[in-house]
Amino acid sequence: MKIFETKQALQDFIDEHRSKNDLIGFVPTMGALHEGHLSLIEKSKEQSAVTVCSIFINPTQFNDPKDFEKYPKTIKEDLQKLELAGCEAVFLPPVSEMYPEGMHQLPHYPLGRLEELWEGAHRPGHFQGVCVIVHRLLEAVRPDLLFMGSKDFQQVAVIRQLLAQYSFKPTIELISCETVRETSGLAMSSRNVRLSPEQKIQALAIYHGFDKIQKAIQEQITCSTKELERQFAQQLLDAGFESVDYIAFADPESLEPISDLSQTFVVLVAAFIGGVRLIDNQLFYHELPKGV
Ligand code: AMP
Repeated sequence: MKIFETKQALQDFIDEHRSKNDLIGFVPTMGALHEGHLSLIEKSKEQSAVTVCSIFINPTQFNDPKDFEKYPKTIKEDLQKLELAGCEAVFLPPVSEMYPEGMHQLPHYPLGRLEELWEGAHRPGHFQGVCVIVHRLLEAVRPDLLFMGSKDFQQVAVIRQLLAQYSFKPTIELISCETVRETSGLAMSSRNVRLSPEQKIQALAIYHGFDKIQKAIQEQITCSTKELERQFAQQLLDAGFESVDYIAFADPESLEPISDLSQTFVVLVAAFIGGVRLIDNQLFYHELPKGV
């Protein structure tokens, strides 16, 4: 497995593979790798000749400086995991490589409603930071396939918009991959290492909340989405969460709030437990009647 710290060295490696018409798959991460990240590497390996993973804790996407300071760093273990997973190349740039001009006066990305809704509203500037870094990483790697986790549902929508707004050569196909969970149902996250064993159990209230919504749909309970959101938030607080940023029933494409439960929708959740902000989501499919 090759490790690169500069864009130039990475590009030389990529150019060599491009000349052989190798398909390049790319998995951007912030490290502290777990099975969720490795599932993206696996997906990339299935579909590409060369898989590149980046590890870069991007300062500009942290709206809370304490969250940035506390972000877990496990680079030695990460490299071992990537090597075992068969990743061909890792891009490990220092901050100066990605932000040679410093971190002020960065370009602005027009994200419209995606920046006003849910994560956008609760983490001002977060998606601008995500766009700056993903844009720069994509220009450095120039992949054919980009693998991202639907665990960060709104992030996938933001990057889809970025890909549509800027022309990348070659064109990049974004592949959104399923959320990997612990056997308990807890969505894997680098931030979970900051939870105590008890908090990990309490955090399952998110997963159980999704189950309750599924039951409410099956039993055709006539309840407004507002009421379901309120009940879900209360269940989280009762389970031991300190606060809930949002519970949102939303359209999976636009992420606008919905009120009609008979369509396909996504439930997005962000809440704090033990000072750690967890996000999760689940899609609820509208099943067409048999024969349609
Ligand atoms: P991060 O290191 O948190 O920035 O995540 C890097 C990539 O891994 C993003 O595309 C995430 O959506 C994805 N990811 C994080 N957690 C999971 C998970 N539990 N299952 C699948 N993908 C994930």
